[in-house]
Amino acid sequence: MTRISKNKPVLVTGANGYVAGWLVKKLLEEGCTVHAAVRDPENQEKVSHLHELAEEHAGTIHFFKTDLLDEGSYAEAMQGCELVFHTASPFTSDYTDPQRDLVDPAVLGTENVLDQATRTPTVKRVVLTSSCAAIYTDCTDLDITPGNIFTEGIWNSTASLDYQPYSYSKTMAEKTAWERQEQQEQWDLVVINPCLVMGPPLNPRATTSESFTILKQLGDGSMKGGVPDIGLGVVDVRDVALAHYRAGFTPEAEGRHITCGHNTSLLELALALQPAFGKEYPIPRRALPKWLVTLLGPIMDKTISRRFLKNNVNRRWRADNSKSKEALGMTYRPLRETMEDAFQALIDSGVFEEKEVANSTISA
Ligand code: NAP
Repeated sequence: MTRISKNKPVLVTGANGYVAGWLVKKLLEEGCTVHAAVRDPENQEKVSHLHELAEEHAGTIHFFKTDLLDEGSYAEAMQGCELVFHTASPFTSDYTDPQRDLVDPAVLGTENVLDQATRTPTVKRVVLTSSCAAIYTDCTDLDITPGNIFTEGIWNSTASLDYQPYSYSKTMAEKTAWERQEQQEQWDLVVINPCLVMGPPLNPRATTSESFTILKQLGDGSMKGGVPDIGLGVVDVRDVALAHYRAGFTPEAEGRHITCGHNTSLLELALALQPAFGKEYPIPRRALPKWLVTLLGPIMDKTISRRFLKNNVNRRWRADNSKSKEALGMTYRPLRETMEDAFQALIDSGVFEEKEVANSTISA
């Protein structure tokens, strides 16, 4: 049982990120003092929305310049904190060297933040943003999973530096976190494992999360001929933020939590957008045949391999979210609400205007 005082500052690493933004908002609404650790506090494009949130809500925010790979750089930001939310980690398919660009910041960054927690006597709890990527790589992993459903007891055993290195980075980072937790008794560790996060960004123009790449592709015409019907889980970013908050402040919280609203697919995400946006935007309406996707996918997008398509297209995805409901009291928003709010936020931010999709032909 770990009781966290709401009167002590709370650290959020990667505070300007897509997921972290909604967590910071919740903390400010609750009147907390947020220590926002970011790479560049002077970059207004990345942090001005957080300043605005602090003005609108009861809590206060202080910014700290940090880097996952800069040892000791979280010392000042962590001072006086009982609770640390470690969300920062690269989530992108835009990398050249998977070790340098994904695994090192994820794993060495986790060591850096958690070692600092051990050196900071006030810290009682760390909440780590892991991922369902630390549980599985491909839908076909379900074939080797007991009961054919992903649970908190399962660890990803199929990702590597050469295959789905983001999933590998999240797996290694979470394993590192549990190792560090076992080496000391000062703080406990609670882990949130979200599936693919969707929903409105607080700062659509400056967010680099891969979630947006997917969302943008659903609306900018790049998939207008159809989508590979890949099974996946989806959760609303606002629900993920709430799960983090509750993981921090629920004394009994422990272990991993699959944080997933819907066992769904890429096609269903597109179809959820059709009623509200299908007339104006070239949103895909159908699934592409697997043979076509497998043939052309890797040529059109170098980050997608034939192995990935073979293991995921036309395959269902299934995870058990019952622990998050029971232990953290989670309920999940309807998929359509998540997708519509997300898409509307991208329209409002003007990201589609750059591609002039409004007048493009809908061929699907
Ligand atoms: P995001 O918006 O790109 O946020 C990533 C954050 O990590 C940013 O604040 C980024 O800072 C920071 N970061 C990256 N490299 C860093 C470094 N070397 N030093 C310091 N900070 C660094 O992506 P997100 O989707 O919100 O992801 C947040 C967390 O959720 C990640 O741990 C991700 O693995 C996890 N997650 C995301 C999803 C999803 O679907 N979005 C699903 C499951 C888990 P800069 O802005 O300076 O780059």
